[in-house]
Amino acid sequence: MDVSRRQFLSIGPAGALGGSALGFDLTESIRVKQRLRIGGSTVSHSLCPYCAVGCSLIAHTRKTAGGKTELLQIEGDPDSPVNEGTLCPKGATSLQLAVSRRRVPHPLYRAPGATGWKQVSWEFALDRLARNIKASRDATFVTQDADGNVVNRCEGIAFAGGAAFSSEEGYLATKLMRGLGLVHLEQQARV
Ligand code: SF4
Repeated sequence: MDVSRRQFLSIGPAGALGGSALGFDLTESIRVKQRLRIGGSTVSHSLCPYCAVGCSLIAHTRKTAGGKTELLQIEGDPDSPVNEGTLCPKGATSLQLAVSRRRVPHPLYRAPGATGWKQVSWEFALDRLARNIKASRDATFVTQDADGNVVNRCEGIAFAGGAAFSSEEGYLATKLMRGLGLVHLEQQARV
């Protein structure tokens, strides 16, 4: 039997091994699926927010006993003509970005000379950031280059975007940094 990649992704590996859509009895594979972590979950369709490719996602959720919605799994949508069930490494880690216990939920600060980080408030962190950006910009702003050309640029601050940026966040950050006159902009996500 020939099983296309699209068929395989649509019915899942268990279904592909015994699926009636392909002329087989699905009973056992359905039983297998019901025992899976996503068995009985609500399926919602969405789009990956990270880049302009626009891959389609399927999110599996379930209500907990306390009434909260629990995100169980995010995967590529096999019915999408864009990504046909696949996701790049960035999109494939969407679940971890949403629910990983390793995410840092608050700002951390390491004072000059200190060896450890301490938890601080958002107010403290944003105020500190703003003051340091202004001080560095004021100290390193260049209005003219060596040949007398007007350049109006800040050479003392560099900005690196992160892989978790959405397209909109990347656009906003770039606008802000260019507005401050930064010329050293980089993006860590090479996907
Ligand atoms: S980041 Fe990856 S998964 Fe997301 S839309 Fe772009 S290519 Fe698709």
